[in-house]
Formats: sequence, C-alpha cells, structure tokens
Amino acid sequence: MKQEIIKESLPKLLRPKEYYLNAIESKSIYSNATHIIGFGFDGTACFRKGTKEGPDALRVISDGIEDYSPYLKQGTDEINQFYDLGNLNVGSTEDADTNWKMATDEYFEIFSDIDLKKNKVKTLTLGGEHSISFAPLKTYLDQYEDLVVIHLDAHADLRDGYLGHHYSHASIIRRALDHFKEGHELIQYGIRSGTKEEFEWMHENKTIKLSRNEFLEAVKNINKDRPVYLTFDLDYFDPSFFPGTGTPEPGGEDFHSFISFVKILMEKNFVGCDVVELSPVIDPTGNSDVFAAKIVRELLIALN
Ligand code: MN
Ligand code: MN
Repeated sequence: MKQEIIKESLPKLLRPKEYYLNAIESKSIYSNATHIIGFGFDGTACFRKGTKEGPDALRVISDGIEDYSPYLKQGTDEINQFYDLGNLNVGSTEDADTNWKMATDEYFEIFSDIDLKKNKVKTLTLGGEHSISFAPLKTYLDQYEDLVVIHLDAHADLRDGYLGHHYSHASIIRRALDHFKEGHELIQYGIRSGTKEEFEWMHENKTIKLSRNEFLEAVKNINKDRPVYLTFDLDYFDPSFFPGTGTPEPGGEDFHSFISFVKILMEKNFVGCDVVELSPVIDPTGNSDVFAAKIVRELLIALN
C-alpha cells in the first residue's frame, strides 16, 4: 500500500544505537505504516531495574536474528516498509514522575493529533517498564471507540497507584481503565500474581482468561473489523525461558503459547502494541534479549 508522509515536524528524538532489523530511520510519520518508538524508562520499578536499556538492546540484538518468521511464513523484508523514530526523551530530573511525564507528553505530541484509523498509522512502542504503555494506550483508547485491549502479563497491574506513583508499572491497567468507555473491552491472560482485590475485580468483570484455550478462543471470537491493541509485559513468560525481567513469576507461559496467539492476531484488525519489561542487565547471557527481539519480529509482521 502506498505510504505518504502525513506529519513531519516531530520533536527531536534520541538516535538509538542501531535500528530494528529492516526499519528505516525516520523523522516523519507515514500512512499505512508501523512506527517503532523507544521509551526507555524504569523510574517506578520497585524491585530490580534496568528496563531503560530495553529498546536499544532489542534493536542491537535484532541484527543477529533471521528476518524470516517460519511461524507466520513471512519476513520483515516482505512486509510494508516500517520506520524507527528513535527514543523518546526521558527526563533526567530527580523526580521519576517528572521524567516519565516528559516522554509521555512527547509521545502525545507526536501521535495524538494524527488520525491513526484514517491514515492507518500503527505504533510499536518498546519499553521500558510497563508504566510507559500509558501513552500509547490512552492515544488508542481516545481514537478507537471499539478498541479491544489485550493485556499479557504475569501481573494484574490493577493497583490504584503503587509506592507513591499514580502512574506506576503496577497500576498501568488501572490507569488505562480510567480512559475506557462503553465500547472498549479488556482481555487479560497469563496473570498469576496480584492482590485478592485485583483477582476479584478480574473475575467479576470477566477480563481474565484462565486457560490457554479459553484465551485463544476469546481472541478468535473478536470481530474481524474490531481494532485490537496489545500491551505485552514480557514477564508473561516463565522465568526459566525469560529470566531478563525485573519481577519474574514462576508458572508462566512459553514461546509456543505466544506463537499460537500471534497466528490468530495476524488475522485480526491488529492496530498497535507495546512490548515492555525487558531488563537486559538481569540476564547477562543475553538470551532474553534474543527472545524479546523475536517477539517483536513476529508482532511487526502481524501488524502489517
Ligand atoms: Mn508484569
Ligand atoms: Mn505489567
């Protein structure tokens, strides 16, 4: 599909160490295209930090993986051109909330005045801790009145703020719910850690899917025209497969559960996603970086 520049005067973002696979460095937004953007923030992380290095680690390691997906039977060189805008400017003040807000506002400045739906503009945001997903989630919820948000995570992230941060990684889904309207829907899967109240809420509101089959069925049943946004916390995976994350939880999913999901997602109206919580420093083998880069490759192809 023809791609045209629809916005040029973007704020000046930071140049990453490398660009993701076949992404073209861009200072503009194109129609009919996916835009990668890094949001390397880990200011509210409570346990083990390091996710601020996530976006660049993912891009650097992507050079070492095949661009062909044998699962989706396509390569990133066969899909529409996609772009890498670089990294948002996370503030460097003493106050984590201020630093987060700087980059969040920058994201809004870039995307909130673009008609994502009409221009078929898609975003793939690389974290960073999960609090960074507020920027894309709010943008998509404001623009798509019938959005389905799929939340993959070990944690419910439904706390109303955590350790003094209103926009904490542990409250991101609660903060997204602040912007949910009548037509929006939430599907959660992989969740195996949270408070009693969080689990009660998920059961009452039927957002949580309790088995792989139940989850995949729920995704299959999404109407083909309905826009789907994915917020993907990588601690969804079992720490034996994916140790490079700050708050690992045993009993998690494997790569094949993700592949079963992404094959279905590919047939849906998949409009955007974020991939968060890779902390390269926590897994010095670098295996988690490779794992995450493959996840991003599959999602890029599915977004096409
Ligand atoms: Mn999590
Ligand atoms: Mn999370």
